[in-house]
Amino acid sequence: MNPHQIGPACDRHLFCAVLRWCMLVRQASCRRPTLRPNPFARPILFMKLKRMKLSDAESKSTIRATSGRPTGPSQPRGAETSSGSIGSSAPLDSSAANGPTKENSSVGVRRSGSGWLMIAVTFVALLLVMIVGAFWAGFFDRSGAPVQSPTLSAIPAVYDADRAMGYLKKICDIGPRPSGTEAMQRQQKMLQEFFTQQGAGVSMQTFEIRHPQDGSAVPMANLIARWNVDRPKRYLLCAHYDTRPFPDQDRRNRKGIFIGANDGGSGTAALMEMSHQMADLPSDVGVDMVLFDGEEFIWEQGRDEYFLGSKYFARNYVAEPPAIPYRAGVLLDMVADRELKIYYEQNSLSYAPEIARGIWKTADRLGVRAFVPRSRHRVEDDHIPLNQIAKIPTVDLIDFDYPRAGIGAPSYWHTEQDIPANCSGESIAAVVWVVHEWLKQQ
Ligand SMILES: [Zn+2]
Repeated sequence: MNPHQIGPACDRHLFCAVLRWCMLVRQASCRRPTLRPNPFARPILFMKLKRMKLSDAESKSTIRATSGRPTGPSQPRGAETSSGSIGSSAPLDSSAANGPTKENSSVGVRRSGSGWLMIAVTFVALLLVMIVGAFWAGFFDRSGAPVQSPTLSAIPAVYDADRAMGYLKKICDIGPRPSGTEAMQRQQKMLQEFFTQQGAGVSMQTFEIRHPQDGSAVPMANLIARWNVDRPKRYLLCAHYDTRPFPDQDRRNRKGIFIGANDGGSGTAALMEMSHQMADLPSDVGVDMVLFDGEEFIWEQGRDEYFLGSKYFARNYVAEPPAIPYRAGVLLDMVADRELKIYYEQNSLSYAPEIARGIWKTADRLGVRAFVPRSRHRVEDDHIPLNQIAKIPTVDLIDFDYPRAGIGAPSYWHTEQDIPANCSGESIAAVVWVVHEWLKQQ
């Protein structure tokens, strides 16, 4: 998926949250119009005003000088006032003749100066509160803390954590699996055989793209596995099965080997595990599983296009609508983290709030505490084309903090550390359990 931006729009970093808050405070303090163009002059101006008598003509000229706008000694006062360039001068001048106006303007000056003081105090206070709060909330990395089970009670035996982990390892044993590579072809063959054996009708939705580096043709294919095609309530379960060409977030080796155990492997392994549950569905519910190619065929960030497979699938869905449209879609991405925590993804809440709430409610009922009923990240992922182009209300189940949030915590996302050792079959099984139970309620 596409990484988020660091800055006021970001909701991932403590710093960005503080920055956003300060901008809000700043906006609030600026709503009352002020005429001073130089913000750094305000505290000085405020101090000066406290010391000086406002009716003193000499003080007026000092204020003007302090405010940082040079006014030539030969410049007539009337011209300066009419320009409105120095906020204090016009009100102060007029105040000499009009008492009430003077009161208003001097109060205005004080408020403006104190606005900056308020911002500074708010910033410091907020920072302190956030640091203390974050510490108590476990925001800072606590390396060595025992890994929590994703569920409050044991996962039913039909959701086999060892089997799920076996699938994940089998996928990773192939090695890196970028689109168009020989390794991807081997993975496709393995999955075609697997889903056929499991009883699905398997097809490949093939297309071609131009390689962003050299323009050569790259074959792509979405793998589609269908169960109970004649059933009237159809649901889409999906994941991407390609891996990013390089671990470009790895500080030590950006051109190293990217296995993509969690990012690419986990969703695929989860659908493989889910295939064992397809016999246990309501009699009117049918499922299509789709593994998208080209989710992140990204050789150069910012230049190359994400979500090639899901875009192709979505456009095709519109061009050739199926006899029975999907009621909903669930995208599984990065669901094998050993320290699984799946928050509401914000785009999912915008596009498919009822489906999202239904899934988290199911998790709550089952005691799967890895599903946290709070929103955290806004993630660009394969569910965006499905929602925007195909209009299939689709939710993204994604644990974007891999392995955990927190200052000083490691990050395995798009690094050489995205390997099976940092994943857990129990996490995959817990997610499959929740999605399957949710399907059974439809
Ligand atoms: Zn990725």
